[in-house]
Amino acid sequence: MADKSKPLFLQYYKKNKKRLAKMDTVVRQLHEEVSSQVDCLQCANCCRSLGPAIYDKDIDRIAKALRMKPSDVVATYLKIDEDGDYVFNSMPCPFLMPDNYCSIYEHRPKACREYPHTDRKKFEQIYKLTVKNTETCPIAYEVLLRLLDE
Ligand code: SF4
Ligand code: SF4
Repeated sequence: MADKSKPLFLQYYKKNKKRLAKMDTVVRQLHEEVSSQVDCLQCANCCRSLGPAIYDKDIDRIAKALRMKPSDVVATYLKIDEDGDYVFNSMPCPFLMPDNYCSIYEHRPKACREYPHTDRKKFEQIYKLTVKNTETCPIAYEVLLRLLDE
């Protein structure tokens, strides 16, 4: 479904690039609306298939929560990806539990907290990334779909 809509989303971007730069409030409202209707616990696609970039602050927070040394968190759970960022060394994420809860939810990486970024300022700058995210995330898909009518 998301794949079929991608050309439409990209067409919208082409036509509305300038307008989009002033539409953060609209996009944010759509994000709130859609997020309240989608149950992430029924989905967990991002935790199953995307490797969020993990930074030093994330590692320190996770280490504290797990009462491990940061270097042990790195050795146990992380690897370096092709961009030179730390990512989880396996997917689905090692902290994803069978009921789709995150076992380190309060201490999860920043990138996990912010995904799918549809409430971000300067949304126009990440519009194309959001089109990509429609492959994974029903929230990203639905926000862009509703944006077509704005
Ligand atoms: S992919 Fe999107 S809808 Fe699914 S769990 Fe992640 S943020 Fe929630
Ligand atoms: S740390 Fe938690 S929120 Fe982040 S990918 Fe793993 S299970 Fe999902």
